[in-house]
Amino acid sequence: EMAGGEEQQQERILVSVRLRPVNAREAERGDGTEWECAGPATLKFLGTIPERAMFPASYTYDRVFDPECSTRQVYDEGAKEVALSVLSGINCTCQTSIFAYGQTSSGKTYTMLGITEHSMAEIYAYIDQHPDREFILRFSAMEIYNEAVRDLLSSDTTPLRLLDDPEKGTVVEKLTEETLRDKGHLLELLAVCEAQRQIGETALNETSSRSHQILRLTVESSAKQFLGKGNSSTLQACVNFVDLAGSERASQTAASGMRLKEGSHINKSLLTLGKVIRQLSGGRNGHIPYRDSKLTRILQSSLGGNARTAIICTMSPAHCHVEQSRNTLLFANCAK
Ligand code: ADP
Ligand code: MG
Repeated sequence: EMAGGEEQQQERILVSVRLRPVNAREAERGDGTEWECAGPATLKFLGTIPERAMFPASYTYDRVFDPECSTRQVYDEGAKEVALSVLSGINCTCQTSIFAYGQTSSGKTYTMLGITEHSMAEIYAYIDQHPDREFILRFSAMEIYNEAVRDLLSSDTTPLRLLDDPEKGTVVEKLTEETLRDKGHLLELLAVCEAQRQIGETALNETSSRSHQILRLTVESSAKQFLGKGNSSTLQACVNFVDLAGSERASQTAASGMRLKEGSHINKSLLTLGKVIRQLSGGRNGHIPYRDSKLTRILQSSLGGNARTAIICTMSPAHCHVEQSRNTLLFANCAK
């Protein structure tokens, strides 16, 4: 188990970049022609180069998506393989994470919501096609704001504690886990999450740009002839859909060289995620600082080891966002 894990740790993270369409405001002033997708994996910078920045003209990832690409396409080529890996294999504990990373208003929520829906639809289609197996799907949802974890399926806003379980790793204590009856039930729960998030935002007078949202689907399955026989052919897997806080939070801190601490525009979880991803994708054996933030503790078993990871970096096409877009690409470069 350990040896296999170490081997797979070298496996690359699936990294793609999605350019969102120009919005009405940008279109009005004729903005939005800074970037161009030159082929399926190459992004080109066409704009003016800010003097003080080294600015490569061409960037290569696993996949780049231009503004005309549908979320279906982004899902198919940038996330599907990772999302559906929760259905493959028996006798394994397979954990995966799919992240949306990018500055506020670059399309993270738009992209993650679509990817979550497509993933769920395909998981249900797979279940329908495998009547020989029994499936149990469980759903939970949480938000991390300023290093406090909140249950998005509960109206109780008390921060949840993280516990270390010798077998399961980090566990979020008292997190609600709903067993899904059907697709409709999932949609109901997504609406509950959205309502809980908005209540939180109003209470804190904040926007979602500062919080991370994790939607977690756990899939348990076993062949029907083994059901209830306490057998070893049960598959337990989970996929995390992660809508990250706006990346301007991380880059502002890095740019100004401020010390890492809790504060209004500092995001410990986002910075630590960057460090963890850099460490993992570099194939380095050194210490991976999972324990330095709530986000990376919660996602530890779905990052590195046997885990599969996809990151979709979302980007604005606008001139006024060039600095932030570039920071996003630097993050993407570290992950690939
Ligand atoms: P973020 O979550 O990164 O702050 P959003 O997902 O809320 O950004 O996107 C900002 C706005 O742009 C929203 O109104 C959203 O509907 C729109 N948008 C983002 N990406 C796309 C896209 N690929 N196609 C159409 N509209 C998009
Ligand atoms: Mg958002």
